[in-house]
Amino acid sequence: MKQVYGVIGHPIAHSLSPAMHEAAFKECGIDGTYLAFEVKEEQVKQAIDGVRALGIKGLNVTIPHKVAVMEYLDEIDPVARQIGAVNTIVHKDNKLIGYNTDGQGYLQALLPVLPKALKDMRVLILGAGGAAKGVAVTMAMNGVKELVISNRTEKKANDLAEECSGLTNSSGLPISLAQARLTEFDLIINTTSIGMTPNVDQMPLSLEMIAKGVVVSDLIYTPSKTRWLKDAEARGAIIQNGLEMFVNQGALAFEKWTGQSAPRDVMSSKVKEKLGGLSC
Ligand code: NAP
Repeated sequence: MKQVYGVIGHPIAHSLSPAMHEAAFKECGIDGTYLAFEVKEEQVKQAIDGVRALGIKGLNVTIPHKVAVMEYLDEIDPVARQIGAVNTIVHKDNKLIGYNTDGQGYLQALLPVLPKALKDMRVLILGAGGAAKGVAVTMAMNGVKELVISNRTEKKANDLAEECSGLTNSSGLPISLAQARLTEFDLIINTTSIGMTPNVDQMPLSLEMIAKGVVVSDLIYTPSKTRWLKDAEARGAIIQNGLEMFVNQGALAFEKWTGQSAPRDVMSSKVKEKLGGLSC
């Protein structure tokens, strides 16, 4: 019988996950389908009840349900618990188990471009929303030398830094002071939505103060190179966008659902093909 997988979110119509996962199923000879389900905030419990009742094998969870979904699951993986958000649900032996593959997906994309070990890196994270949580906790768990978090809403940066403080040396920094301290960091990560299509002229921070060889990373992948990444590249930084993170978080979910190694090249090509069709 065909196995059903999917993603819940709101809005969800433009999700690239169905195309990416269906390409993976086809490549691996899995008789599965992956659907995007539009679920409003007040419908999260009903959606999860539906997963149980309909025998949906696995689910991704995206904005704005990654936190709300947690209370309806049977088990939460310790990493997802530490991050405080779930983006992947596995339905196995009549139980729903929540995981978070965003942080690990980011790390897997990042490691190949780093010029030195994480333990020697001082990291600045811009933003303190859902994506920042996964990235910050993963950076902290993997022992970065220092983690500094800066966000428009200062309290959220301080709270996230506090959550990471048991794992590494971490602190919040007012956004007004971040600019002047840019030279201190080896890795600067934009986890805000500033610069994303259609607001492609916006930048989260000016990069005038960065040193050559710094890694500048942006979780955004539409456009594929934000104005911020273009500016960083022109100043001699190593740059990276969010596309491989997106593919990796999906690949890790696929592996949890199927027990098979994910065809990352096929998934990445499918996403790039789909993005080529968008105006980015
Ligand atoms: P979110 O929870 O809504 O957080 C948004 C963050 O951006 C917050 O820190 C928010 O600051 C900040 N922000 C938004 N507009 C701002 C503005 N005009 N000025 C200053 N700060 C602003 O969203 P999210 O889930 O973390 O997603 C953030 C970005 O990451 C999006 O672009 C998303 O597409 C991307 N993302 C990529 C991947 C991937 O796989 N590559 C995965 C997840 C997310 P406040 O706290 O002050 O509101």
